[in-house]
Amino acid sequence: MFRRVALIGGGAAAATLLSELLDRPATQPLHLDWYTGDTGALARGVAYGTHSARHLLNVRAASMSMFAGKPRGFLDFAQRGDASIAGTDFLPRQLYGDYLEAEVNRALELARAHGHDVHLIAHAVDAVVPESDGVNVICGENSAHVDAAVLALGALPPQPLGGVAQAALDSGRYVVDPWRFLAAAQPDSQPRKVVLIGLGLTAVDVLLELSALWPNAEFTAVSRHGLFPEAHLSKASAPTDDGAELVEQMLEAPEVRSWTRLLRDTTARSTDWRTVVDGLRPHLSALWAELPPPERARFMRHARWAWERVRHRLPPQVEQAMHALEQSDRLHRLRGRMRDVELASEGLRLNLQPNGDGSAVLPADYVIQTVGLNTDARRTGHPLVRQLVTNGHVAPDPLGLGCDATADGHLRHKDGTWPHLFAIGSLLRGTLWESTAMPEIRVQARHLADILLAP
Ligand SMILES: Cc1cc2nc3c(=O)[nH]c(=O)nc-3n(C[C@H](O)[C@H](O)[C@H](O)COP(=O)(O)OP(=O)(O)OC[C@H]3O[C@@H](n4cnc5c(N)ncnc54)[C@H](O)[C@@H]3O)c2cc1C
Repeated sequence: MFRRVALIGGGAAAATLLSELLDRPATQPLHLDWYTGDTGALARGVAYGTHSARHLLNVRAASMSMFAGKPRGFLDFAQRGDASIAGTDFLPRQLYGDYLEAEVNRALELARAHGHDVHLIAHAVDAVVPESDGVNVICGENSAHVDAAVLALGALPPQPLGGVAQAALDSGRYVVDPWRFLAAAQPDSQPRKVVLIGLGLTAVDVLLELSALWPNAEFTAVSRHGLFPEAHLSKASAPTDDGAELVEQMLEAPEVRSWTRLLRDTTARSTDWRTVVDGLRPHLSALWAELPPPERARFMRHARWAWERVRHRLPPQVEQAMHALEQSDRLHRLRGRMRDVELASEGLRLNLQPNGDGSAVLPADYVIQTVGLNTDARRTGHPLVRQLVTNGHVAPDPLGLGCDATADGHLRHKDGTWPHLFAIGSLLRGTLWESTAMPEIRVQARHLADILLAP
């Protein structure tokens, strides 16, 4: 058992692991140093720190428990406030943040009752140095030697896309971090033209919020295919089978082309393709593990966008809100590639290479980068991850999907595996593929708690 553990990160993944560790009967007292970072509200992170009731969970309430062993956790919490809530509902992310906070407070109470020592440190860790008998954690002037450390850092800070002029960045009109921008956005009648680069769930969040705060703004969203994510049905369909046969066939031929064909055939035979996609979810890490590196690269190039579109879906009421924006002519979608963004006298100018021939120029008061979560540890502005990569303590995933690790979260360096240094959540995408949402994070937290508390 690791007696002294550093938990690095203040978001939902760290909160879930903390709760798993403290929820269990204590065999020995545990000393936890919880470094919660210097941004965002405790446990909520970017996803659940939103104050907007327009921002909804994209997973049904019944599937959002923090605990793998208590599937009704979040639903029970929500129903205590409103008995009419159903498990199939898509609830506000803010409410989920309340749930995380309540569970963390409960866990901290339990810690006191069980004699554990939890030390909350509201600062970012600057450096982590793995050693033969543990890990050194450096935060400002302080250095602590712990038996084990867990990185729960979430996604890495977004980086500006290539082709954006420095003057455009300096103007403050090109937004690299949509979350930080939304957190500070105020009602404003000035903005008229807003261009979004990317059309996934992040773009949808931005559109929901800014269309309400900026009543005179017209939005143009640009993406390679010009398509929104697919939407959930208001009531989930029952799966026709458990998907075992499909998974077996996919494991027999681990290549993107045959997987695409198999999925196309299976969905064509199903009454609702969503049940086929959802049926694969528990098997995704096993499937990803079987995919050879060149096939993984092929998936990232050719199939990733299509998969993400069907896998990360919009709640039905959000889909309706997007249609209403389009019908009122406030939102236009364009298919193409951003070539560059430059500063112009009237604001910004985005030069677009539309699919097919020609070019187009989009003038904008603001251009907002909504390209989804960044997990590329190869070139990141995140100081701690940069330190770990630069010093060779961790090896970045070659496809930009976090860091090299084992399936149970042990981080790896180029010559081996660290026994005392772990990660949970987005940094494990290269190993597990599906590793950012709560249904996966709670399973990782449970396994990690088993490892950390093993006698
Ligand atoms: C907008 C949005 C909506 C989402 N909606 C859903 C949803 O509906 N359902 C779902 O299941 N999933 C959803 N997700 C996925 C989401 O990523 C996870 O559910 C969860 O929030 C991930 O938590 P995390 O702790 O890994 O990351 P984060 O919540 O990002 O937390 C990372 C934490 O690490 C801290 N940190 C960073 N560096 C350091 C350092 N050096 N030292 C100390 N602390 C540090 C940060 O300050 C932060 O507190 C959503 C994600 C986003 C971005």
